[in-house]
Amino acid sequence: MRKHIFNAGPCKLPDSTLENVSKAVIEFGNTGQSILEVSHRSADFQAVHDEAVALFKEVLNIPEGYHVLFLGGGASMQFCMVPFNFLKTKAAYVNTGTWATNAIKEAKMWGEVEVVASSEADGFTYYPEFTIPSDVDYMHITSNNTIRGTEIFYDPTSPVPLIADMSSDICSRPVDVSKYHMIYGGCQKNLGPAGVTFVIIKDEMLNHVVEGRMIPTMLRYKTHVDKESMYNTPPCVNIFGVKETLKWIKEMGGVKVMEERAIERANAIYNELENSKVFRPVVKEGSRSRMNIPFLLREGYESLEKEFLDFCKTKNIVGVKGHRSVGGFRASTYNACTMDDVNALISAMREFEAAHK
Ligand SMILES: *Cc1c(COP(=O)(O)O)cnc(C)c1O
Repeated sequence: MRKHIFNAGPCKLPDSTLENVSKAVIEFGNTGQSILEVSHRSADFQAVHDEAVALFKEVLNIPEGYHVLFLGGGASMQFCMVPFNFLKTKAAYVNTGTWATNAIKEAKMWGEVEVVASSEADGFTYYPEFTIPSDVDYMHITSNNTIRGTEIFYDPTSPVPLIADMSSDICSRPVDVSKYHMIYGGCQKNLGPAGVTFVIIKDEMLNHVVEGRMIPTMLRYKTHVDKESMYNTPPCVNIFGVKETLKWIKEMGGVKVMEERAIERANAIYNELENSKVFRPVVKEGSRSRMNIPFLLREGYESLEKEFLDFCKTKNIVGVKGHRSVGGFRASTYNACTMDDVNALISAMREFEAAHK
């Protein structure tokens, strides 16, 4: 039986992705080969790659003048590639939690980092306001904070190239891509299986590469732009999975529909948390992510953590344990999550509450 999956990443994927990847693993089209075996240089695989890029551009409404790359290394590799390529003297970052902190740490290896805003003093429970300086090489934000559960709901206007880590909210809502010089993320949260990273990069950004810096070939964006992600062997089966998920997003009605679904799911869970006698929300109103919803036990009930997790297991609910760095619980409600999943969680919370209050 299929579980109600609230994993933070890798995460629940649409049934059609699972079915079509499975089929392609056995036989990829009419090639007489598995997607695991076929050459990445073959016309058949090239078509998969090209369709993934085309679907991404269509679904997210990516304007002309941008490249879509599918790379290895995870979003964490981008934390170092971004400053390696673009940080000459100073860059600006917003510190909104673990992932932003990791990105800042890498950037400091190449230059000065100005942290223009941080919600650290309040346990990263809200998305801080910030102004973008005009004397920096670029500005970096983390649009959705997977561990803390905060999200920014607008596309900032920036006087310098704006770069966003959208690992965990990509394609969950419309984005004005033209506001960004680069958007990147691990695909394993909203787009497909783990093992492939997307990079949406404005061609003009390549003019911002630090002149004269020795950058290893694999860590240069220009390498991957010039070779359309085929400089080396790309993660083929993962790209196939991303293509299938993008196809599903399009068939469902696109990112606008993804957003409506996400709002419905998040509202239902947050309503429950507000009204529960046993559980409570963590994140302040206005910053509440629709993708990751952390919650805690209310005062007097704190000792019931393990008991609730065990109870969830009996209800076929998985993945609600909070990140090891913060504890408590977290429901990750990415694109493929359904109201059926959400209702199962809410019923479990109510049943648990009735048994304990
Ligand atoms: C998961 C995550 C990362 C790290 O991604 P990897 O692909 O595991 O390197 C970075 N940023 C955000 C916002 C994430 O959610």
